[in-house]
Amino acid sequence: MRATQWMGKNHVEVNEVPDPQLLNDRDAIVKVSSTAICGSDLHLYDGFIPTMKKGDILGHEFMGEVVELGRGVSNLRVGDRVVVPFPIACGACNACARGLFSVCENSNPNAGMAQKLWGHSPCGIFGYSHLVGGYPGGQAEYARVPFADVGPLKVEDDLTDEQVLFLSDIFPTGYMGAEMCDISPGDVVAVWGAGPVGLFAVASARMLGAERVIAIDRFGYRLDKAREAGATDVLDYEEVDVLDALDELTAGRGPDGCIDAAGLEATHPTTAVDAYDRAKTAVMAETERPHALREAIMACRNGGTVSIIGVYGGLMDKFPVGSLMNRSLTVRTGQAHVQRYLKPLYEKIRDGEIDPTFLISHTLPLDRAPEGYRMFRDKEDDCTKVVLKP
Ligand code: NAD
Ligand code: ZN
Ligand code: ZN
Repeated sequence: MRATQWMGKNHVEVNEVPDPQLLNDRDAIVKVSSTAICGSDLHLYDGFIPTMKKGDILGHEFMGEVVELGRGVSNLRVGDRVVVPFPIACGACNACARGLFSVCENSNPNAGMAQKLWGHSPCGIFGYSHLVGGYPGGQAEYARVPFADVGPLKVEDDLTDEQVLFLSDIFPTGYMGAEMCDISPGDVVAVWGAGPVGLFAVASARMLGAERVIAIDRFGYRLDKAREAGATDVLDYEEVDVLDALDELTAGRGPDGCIDAAGLEATHPTTAVDAYDRAKTAVMAETERPHALREAIMACRNGGTVSIIGVYGGLMDKFPVGSLMNRSLTVRTGQAHVQRYLKPLYEKIRDGEIDPTFLISHTLPLDRAPEGYRMFRDKEDDCTKVVLKP
């Protein structure tokens, strides 16, 4: 089959590789019909995660048709159309029982490696390095899906791939980011980053009742999308002082909820280019730009919530813990517990409450994945989200 392979920093190729096989009773093989490139893939692309190996198959946002099933999967049939959540979760461990699917205790075979870095291990993730299991990803013609009796959601034929694909990751992620802010009617929520994740956070904050949602980015075309998603105000952080502007918009109090949907980002102009070298020793290094997370903490109103859905890997310098402590802030964070949100968010799409297709800017055949990565990373050609068709 054809698959998108990580070949080194800023280098992906689509090549012929062996087809995946069923390995366990609870596996399924999915013939991928649509798959997307995520901001998280850019962290791999930019070389921030040294536990990638040359030839690893990328991709954690995908959907398609079940073509083979292990004996242990009774809730799916060959021929079913499914969307696959990016966290691999067993559905039965202590974490899964609590609905904390992205920290499943049974899906990362390389848990020891993760423990050295983080104390305990999160779940396994498709196409996301050996630190989280080394599972081949879904930017390919076929993918093996472990615990297929738990993760994949069956979708009805009258919904298009484009309508439901983002249930695999970024819609639940944005939604969880907003939900973690415990929004009350009248609340003001600010979102750093108007990429795909930030755009879903904006839309979700509105759905959850925020009166004002302020989107922050430096790309005008993305801020326009944020308005489409329901932002009431937008800030270009290269034009204004974000902290001053947020104070002005909230009578000096600060937003009730502050969502970091930026995370690590290598394309910011002030980013240190030596991040990759430092990553080799620190497993993953943070960049040195006006820091979204630092700003989110400093901006938040006393007693408010800082919700971190942007991805971080290692340590962050100058983390303003004094601001958190002295002002009674709450920090909530996590890789999205996608399985928890699949059905309720599917219903919202079904009911027409949201149309996720608005953020797709490019649809390309799988073979053009290298071009898709480059465009998405460099925000070329008003690129917001790339969908690949194997
Ligand atoms: P993206 O790269 O398209 O978007 C990031 C946006 O943040 C860009 O538009 C960029 O201009 C903006 N940005 C960078 N620095 C900023 C700053 N200081 N202030 C305001 N905006 C700033 O990526 P994406 O697909 O939207 O993903 C965003 C983040 O979410 C990534 O870190 C990704 O890894 C993470 N993510 C997390 C989860 C999860 O489960 N928690 C899931 C998917 C993605
Ligand atoms: Zn993703
Ligand atoms: Zn589990």
